[in-house]
Amino acid sequence: MAAEIINGKQIAAQIRSELKEQVERMAAQGRRPGLAVVLVGDNPASAVYVRQKKKACHEIGIYSEEHKLPGTITQGELLALIDRLNADPKIHGILVQLPLPDGLDEEEVINRINPKKDVDGFHPTNVGRLSIGLPAYVPCTPAGVLELVKRTGVAIAGKKVVVLGRSNIVGKPAAMLFLRENATVTVCHSRTVNVQQECAQADILVVAVGRPKLVKKYWVKPGAVVIDVGINRVDGKIVGDVDFEEVQEVASAITPVPGGVGPMTIAMLMKNTVSSAAEN
Ligand code: NAD
Repeated sequence: MAAEIINGKQIAAQIRSELKEQVERMAAQGRRPGLAVVLVGDNPASAVYVRQKKKACHEIGIYSEEHKLPGTITQGELLALIDRLNADPKIHGILVQLPLPDGLDEEEVINRINPKKDVDGFHPTNVGRLSIGLPAYVPCTPAGVLELVKRTGVAIAGKKVVVLGRSNIVGKPAAMLFLRENATVTVCHSRTVNVQQECAQADILVVAVGRPKLVKKYWVKPGAVVIDVGINRVDGKIVGDVDFEEVQEVASAITPVPGGVGPMTIAMLMKNTVSSAAEN
């Protein structure tokens, strides 16, 4: 039987509409969430993401500010902007679009953001809090992965979850999130011996490697839930890290690319911003 296709676009729209209602209630009490997005240099992909974020803010009723800075800006000037945004009561979330141009120190910039406004969840305080089980801002893509699994009605506790990829923005926080949900989690990476065998054990398989169509049908246990984070451009088309056509024949549920995890990332950024405004 063919797999259920997990409609990330629809689930993300549902989350945005829930947030819109919440923001309307907050606005009635005189509070409006605010997000500042900082874009340095002229990376075209970053500019697209920033536009999408602005559009989502507008739809939900979140106040948004865009700070477009030239690639020639100094580290000191960038840190001074972060300091101003940290002190600004209109702003509840600060997002610095990565990667920064060469010559700027990303780590120092992230460390400068007030952890309470770190809606990307990249500050070491939030990373640490997630790993010791305290409330924390969680990076938006893995938060979106978990939300998709939950909203599909898949039980997680006691399940075997395999995460392919160990990046700081997707793989590692995804593993932490599923651990927090009482799954048994295995993390695989480029040095894992026999990745296929590990994947074949998974009840829930999360793939974030950046290798087009790496995961094949015979890597997947019949009935598994497969979440594909990958975004790869091949011959002008966007494809995931999972060979969707063949894997959908064995999985019980699977995310498409595009239209799976992608739309969830921005929805979760909006959610983090609204939570920050509600808490701070
Ligand atoms: P990354 O390059 O930082 O990390 C890739 C990870 O995959 C590494 O840990 C590496 O060890 C592992 N890996 C590479 N080849 C492997 C193999 N053959 N077997 C097992 N592990 C292997 O990538 P990232 O930033 O985590 O992104 C991964 C993918 O997800 C990319 O395609 C990226 O575009 C996409 N992505 C999508 C979103 C979204 O919003 N949907 C957000 C972030 C990243």
